[in-house]
Amino acid sequence: MSRQYLVAGNWKMNGGRAANAELITGILAGVAANASVEILVCPPSVYIDAVAQQAAGKIKVGGQNLSEQEKPGAFTGEIHGTMLKEVGCQYVLVGHSERRAFYGDADDVVAGKFKAAQSLGLTPILCVGETLQEREAGQTEAVLARQLNAVLDLNGIDSFANSVVAYEPVWAIGTGKTASPQQAQDAHAFIRGQLAAKNAKISNSTRLLYGGSVKADNAVELFSCPDVDGGLIGGASLKAADFLAICAAA
Ligand code: PGA
Repeated sequence: MSRQYLVAGNWKMNGGRAANAELITGILAGVAANASVEILVCPPSVYIDAVAQQAAGKIKVGGQNLSEQEKPGAFTGEIHGTMLKEVGCQYVLVGHSERRAFYGDADDVVAGKFKAAQSLGLTPILCVGETLQEREAGQTEAVLARQLNAVLDLNGIDSFANSVVAYEPVWAIGTGKTASPQQAQDAHAFIRGQLAAKNAKISNSTRLLYGGSVKADNAVELFSCPDVDGGLIGGASLKAADFLAICAAA
C-alpha cells in the first residue's frame, strides 16, 4: 500500500497579511521539486481566503478548527465548515492538543467536529497524543485508544476512509523535544492497529502524520518509519526554507 506523503503546516495564531504573502511566495517557489508530496498550510481563519487565492491550488489550504454545529446560526465567534469550504479549505484540524487543553475540546466535542467536517466533505486531520505525565505513567496507548474510540464510536470506521490522523505527543509540541523515530513508529503502529481491528483496508490507506518539533534535521528519520506518512509542522512551518526542507524529506 503506498500512501502519498502529506506535510501540513499549522501556523497556529501566527502571521499577518504581509508575512503570509511572503511565506506563500517562498513555498510556491520551491514546490515543484516536491511534486510527489501533498503540501498543506493551515493559516489563522481570517487569512485563509487570501492564502488560498495566492496558493491557487498549487498547495492546499486547511482550517485549524471548526464548529461542531450542524448548521450555521447564532454561535458567536464560531466558524462553520461550509465557510471554510467556501474560502478554499479541503482539510481541517480537529482535536489539536492546544484546543483540547485551552478551549475545552473534550473527546466528544472533537468527535462532533470530525463529524461536521466529514458531512461537508472536508477532510478532518484528527490530532491525538499523550501528555508527558500520561507517557510516564505508561498510559500512552490507553490515551490514544480513548481519543480514537470517541471518534470511531460516533462516526464509524468508514469515516476514516476520508481522514488523516496526526500523532502529536503533547510533550513534543513546541518544546524542541521530538519523539524518537522508534517512539513515533510505536505509537503510529498502535494507531494503525486500532483502525485495522475494525477495517484492515481503511487502516492501510489512512495517512498517519507525526507532529511535535519536526525540523529539517529530524524529518528524514521520522518520515522513514514505515507507519509515518508525513508530518504536522508548527514552528518550522513559519519559514519557507525550513518548511520546504521538511517537505523534501518526505
Ligand atoms: P511544533 O508544533 O512543530 O511547533 O512542535 C506542532 C503542532 O502543534 O502541530
